Amino acid sequence: MVDLKGQYQHIKERVDSSIMNVIETTAFVNGPEVHEFQKELEQYLDVKHVIPCANGTDALQIAMMGLGLKPGDEVITADFTFAATVEVIALLQLTPVLVDVDPISFNIDVEAIKKAITPKTKAIVPVHLFGLAANMDEIMAIAKEHNLYVIEDNAQGIGADYISKNGTTKKTGTIGHVSSTSFFPSKNLGCYGDGGAIFTNDDDLAHIIRGIVNHGMYVRYHHDVVGVNSRLDSIQAAVLRAKLPHLDNYNTARKKAAQKYSDVFKGHKHIITPTGCGKCSETSFENCNCHVFHQYTLRIINSDRDALVNHLSEKGIPCGVYYPIPLHLQKAYKDERYNEKDFAVTNQLIEEVISLPMHTELDDEQIKYITETIINFVTK
Ligand SMILES: *Cc1c(COP(=O)(O)O)cnc(C)c1O
Repeated sequence: MVDLKGQYQHIKERVDSSIMNVIETTAFVNGPEVHEFQKELEQYLDVKHVIPCANGTDALQIAMMGLGLKPGDEVITADFTFAATVEVIALLQLTPVLVDVDPISFNIDVEAIKKAITPKTKAIVPVHLFGLAANMDEIMAIAKEHNLYVIEDNAQGIGADYISKNGTTKKTGTIGHVSSTSFFPSKNLGCYGDGGAIFTNDDDLAHIIRGIVNHGMYVRYHHDVVGVNSRLDSIQAAVLRAKLPHLDNYNTARKKAAQKYSDVFKGHKHIITPTGCGKCSETSFENCNCHVFHQYTLRIINSDRDALVNHLSEKGIPCGVYYPIPLHLQKAYKDERYNEKDFAVTNQLIEEVISLPMHTELDDEQIKYITETIINFVTK
């Protein structure tokens, strides 16, 4: 699904010397590499504060702790996402409220958010799923009207732009009150282990969060709040500093590959290709930055998706089903208040979606083999 080795070959010198430098200086935790990376990412995103931490799941949890959410507060998020999003809500004894997604963008359904709001609702967590920004204009408007926090889960969207109706463009993860991201190796900006970060433009919240990631300490050995230990290793920061200058190029390579896939699949009666913001769907993904294709995900209709998955693995083509089970049906997150008819889209998507190999090193020959194999299977 990803080719991290191929990508490494192009940046080997810089990565190797940066890692060696960390080892020589023995500043393994919170060393200069971490601080430099933080500043460089703040600049890239045009956000006031980046707070590095240990992984994307911690980042979400810490963002919620920083906002002071209390047990029993309801937090609305998408049914169709990776479990980390709902996991931390439950872990903090907040009440997860899962809602359906939009069948075109795969992102949280704005009407479903509106319906799910109660007097106990305190926050909305949109996920920029597969690298496409959620509908932030609408989500921010709902949040404002109901006095809710918006926590963007940007683990899959780093580097993407969100283009507002009013024409302004911002990076995903800089629009809500606070955001989280992951530097897991296969993410668009991945390190060589675990890593994550929290972003916010709110000075006070940034201060609170900087203490939470470090055992609730604001002054050494004075613990003002209950915190956690969640740090980004200096070696991981060194890898991320080597990769950040290439992030836009990496995302362009993904968009190019996505366009090549879509050029072949578009209009096929058994295949629905992913869409971007609409503008790019008319021209090309490459000329737009609304979708950074963490995953390239097709819907296979009136055909057998599971048989296609088996066929592709027989042909040596990696693929993935993200996600095979809706969160509201997972044992850990079942809730008797849920009604199946409220999850019609997610229930359908889990039967139809298939994600194809997507990374920065895909070549034309690979894309040709993958697309031909799929077309042959679904038309037979
Ligand atoms: C990867 C991911 C996370 C979790 O990140 P980790 O670094 O693996 O903890 C959270 N949310 C989404 C949507 C993700 O894709």
